[in-house]
Amino acid sequence: AKAAGRRTFMRYDDAMDVATRQRATLSGALRKVLDRGELRLAFQPRLALADSRITGVEALLRWSSDEHGEIAPADFIPLAEESGLILEIGEWVLREACLTLRRWQQHGVGGLTVAVNVSVLQLLRGDFPEVVRRVLGDVGLAPEALELELTESVLMANAEQTAAKLQAFRAIGVSLAIDDFGTGYSSLAYLKRLPITTIKIDKAFIDDLSHDPEDAAITSTVITMAHSLGLNVVAEGVETEAQLRFLSQHRCDEIQGFWLAQPLDPHACLAFIRNWTQAQGA
Ligand code: C2E
Ligand code: CA
Ligand code: CA
Ligand code: CA
Repeated sequence: AKAAGRRTFMRYDDAMDVATRQRATLSGALRKVLDRGELRLAFQPRLALADSRITGVEALLRWSSDEHGEIAPADFIPLAEESGLILEIGEWVLREACLTLRRWQQHGVGGLTVAVNVSVLQLLRGDFPEVVRRVLGDVGLAPEALELELTESVLMANAEQTAAKLQAFRAIGVSLAIDDFGTGYSSLAYLKRLPITTIKIDKAFIDDLSHDPEDAAITSTVITMAHSLGLNVVAEGVETEAQLRFLSQHRCDEIQGFWLAQPLDPHACLAFIRNWTQAQGA
């Protein structure tokens, strides 16, 4: 049946649109990226509004393919998820992110956390908490320095399985953030039952903060409710002074976005953090 399926597929090959063909080629190339060393991480800093200190960085995956050039995560992460490769890639990301923070600590830049994006497949795999524990041990990084970012949809899709996993991470001492908050269907009341520490308000709400009264209302409400649940709030995709002012006035804890810095390679990010800290007179 498999062979027949493939034959059918081949027969329609001519009709395949460019996007489909490109996906097939990309998946093939993706299979080899780990061996070829084509992946790297960019790091985007996060700023605490109360005292203008850098609190940590988010690790963001980058793929520069020899054959296809620079490919955006939004284009290749879904492919890596479909093929299951995300498990291997995700563990590489975790290790590399922890190693980078450990190196910075050894260069005298301490007190930061590193946030790592986790895909649904990684979370559902039985031993992911064990993988995290092992990587932290290998690297020599304290669990408190690691935050895992999970999207709302991931958490809601597998609520029961997920809750137990999240408890395991918290038992290790790792922080947990809900990414892209507001884009899914979860309510803050529901989140109360999950052992999360941080919510990241999606960029979609931040974009029009200054012009759209509804987005402004949602954002300020989310901040207030999150605080009443004892959660740390991060605004994503902050690009303008006006957004910064609004978030500051409404007591958002932290911001991340181009206003502060773009995702940077590790060396540039370390330099940025040092300069920023120096300018703050710390
Ligand atoms: P995300 O986790 O929501 O990451 C934030 C995205 O917004 C990043 O895009 C970042 O470069 C971008 N961004 C940050 N500040 C600004 C801003 O002020 N303006 C604008 N326009 N964009 C901003 P990026 O790096 O292309 O990543 C896209 C998505 O790919 C991420 O969204 C995340 O869902 C996924 N991703 C990235 N790295 C990983 C990874 O290692 N593992 C997994 N599973 N997913 C990842
Ligand atoms: Ca994220
Ligand atoms: Ca996000
Ligand atoms: Ca996003």
